[in-house]
Amino acid sequence: MYRHAAFFVTCLAMVPLVLGVVLVEGESPLHEQVALALTGTLVLAMLMLLRGWHGPAKTLVGLALLPLTLALASYVLPEYWIPLSQWDAMSRGLATGLTLEDWRPGLLTTIALLLLAMLVATRGRASQGGPLLLLMTALLLGIQALLDGMGLDAQLPRSAASPWSTLAMATLLTGLCVAALPGWRAHAAALRRTLTPSLLLVLAALLLWHHQKGVTTRELHATTETEARQLGDRLMREIFDHLAAVERFANAWTLTDTPPSQAEWDRLAAPYHHDFRYLLNIAFVDTDSRIMRIYPPSDSNRQVLGARLFDAQPAGREAVRRALVEQRIGRTEVIMLLQGVPGIIHYLPIPLDERRTLGAVAMVISLPMLADTLFSEVDTQHTSLLLTQGERILASQVPDTRLGPWQHEVQLDISGIPLRLTIQPSHSRLLEQLPRLPMVTLVTGLTLAYLLYLVLHGYIRLAHQHRRVHATNNELRREIRTRSQLQEEVEWLARHDELTRLPNRRLFMETLAANATRRPLSVLICDVDHFKRINDHQGHLVGDRYLEQLGRIGRDVVEPWGGLFARYGGEEFVAFLPLADSVRAREIAEALRQRLLDAALLHHDGRVLTVSIGVVTLTHGPLDIATLMQAADDALYRAKAEGRNRVKVAQALNTVEGA
Ligand code: GH3
Ligand code: MG
Ligand code: MG
Repeated sequence: MYRHAAFFVTCLAMVPLVLGVVLVEGESPLHEQVALALTGTLVLAMLMLLRGWHGPAKTLVGLALLPLTLALASYVLPEYWIPLSQWDAMSRGLATGLTLEDWRPGLLTTIALLLLAMLVATRGRASQGGPLLLLMTALLLGIQALLDGMGLDAQLPRSAASPWSTLAMATLLTGLCVAALPGWRAHAAALRRTLTPSLLLVLAALLLWHHQKGVTTRELHATTETEARQLGDRLMREIFDHLAAVERFANAWTLTDTPPSQAEWDRLAAPYHHDFRYLLNIAFVDTDSRIMRIYPPSDSNRQVLGARLFDAQPAGREAVRRALVEQRIGRTEVIMLLQGVPGIIHYLPIPLDERRTLGAVAMVISLPMLADTLFSEVDTQHTSLLLTQGERILASQVPDTRLGPWQHEVQLDISGIPLRLTIQPSHSRLLEQLPRLPMVTLVTGLTLAYLLYLVLHGYIRLAHQHRRVHATNNELRREIRTRSQLQEEVEWLARHDELTRLPNRRLFMETLAANATRRPLSVLICDVDHFKRINDHQGHLVGDRYLEQLGRIGRDVVEPWGGLFARYGGEEFVAFLPLADSVRAREIAEALRQRLLDAALLHHDGRVLTVSIGVVTLTHGPLDIATLMQAADDALYRAKAEGRNRVKVAQALNTVEGA
């Protein structure tokens, strides 16, 4: 029943799997497709297990475990053990061109899939942690769905998965639950006590993970922000150095009062052009704003020689005027240079005296080249750089790899022009720097919870078994006691009479045999007179009561003499008297008869109950029990015959003794 239901539910997992494949049509990221494929593999394995195909199912689970184990290892092993670049190299070796980040499912998905693989492999057995693994997986899927819902896909490391694989995993989980439920029922009591502490540990691990993740993310954010600020500072310093150098260059010309020759210009400008590669051109402009000299002396540059800047570059007109007329440093806004790139031109006056100028030095800064110079110091493989002025992009550098979740902005001031440098580290660079601690905490916490579950479960089961063995032992002990009591009773009954609790004929005979060598040795046989009448007239109960009373009297009389009073059968009693001669035996018999008379047990007609007693004594010679008893019986017979209520002593065997 359960098996069929589990099979049906697991089959349902095919729906989100197929929808996931069909709807996204291969457009989803590779890692989501991988998660979907691994879920599909586990669903297939589970269906096979439910059909009883254990071999192929195990192979499938093994196949799924391989990439999952690799992915988890890449998440938790420290960067200094195996750097991300090495994982990428390995990954590229396995599947051409794919980095680890491309195919590796998110952290939570990886752990959830691993737990699912364990669940499928153990078919959710309670003794192998099934219920806890199931709850952990459900928790992870829930958190993942929550993170997805909050749109935190940019998390470090990625934790989101496609809703389709999450749905498929949840359905597979339900199937597993249905399949394992009957097995868990048997452990219900143990499960409650085991699950609570383990689950608390899982929750603690999740909370700690969340907390540490927050801390490490904030730390990493702060680190990259500091890096960005340092980069900005370096840029500013570079620009400052540049301006100082340019001023030195301009000042050098104030000593001459003639415009420089081309050779002179080339000689002095070359080192500056070399040191500051972003100085596109260094030109000498005459008082009429005509370009007279220009370095470097390229063909295109030669073409602008003689051009009048007031006409050729209206955007820079104010800056040129400032230098030539006001003798102050002028600079343009960011303008489109004649070379077709954005840039800034500095005009530095070369004053002759307070009113006259020789001309001005024009320094053309290409912003893309400035950015290039600055960017060259930054690892542009892993960092995206963007230099903007307002909305205008002056230079940009974007790495091939996926960009990380956050960007930092640094405000720059290039001699009064506000520029913005946006720095965004790549995802892989952030991952390299991200401490593995939270992931290690999560994995360790979950592992510890699982171990705790196993230990507790084992312990509780052992304790249960111990209790059962203990109970069985006690039962056995009770049984043994009852049996030995019964045995004792049976043994007692074999040698005693139940009604009078006197020794019976057998014990009497055994005692007689055991004392065979004692001499003298006497035996009495007593028979109640007309006992039948008691039964007939007063009923058996009264008869029984009289027999009991006679037993007590016999015992009281005989035992003080060291003798044994026994019931011989019916209403006949015997006494064994060791070391009693015939005189003593007769005395004892008379005492017995008298005591009964004294007891005054009455017949229905008021007459007193009496006994007749036969006595026999053996003084010497061997003991023949049969002969002895016969002799006693004969004496009894005589007592009866002579009128009852009397004692008769038999002739001693071989000798005649008494009458
Ligand atoms: P007599 O003087 O000749 O011995 O007469 P009697 O009536 O005693 O004769 P007999 O010995 O033949 O009868 C014995 C009777 O004792 C017969 C039997 O019903 C009775 N009896 C034997 N055992 C028991 C017993 O355990 N309880 C009771 N109530 N009666 C018993
Ligand atoms: Mg009798
Ligand atoms: Mg009798």
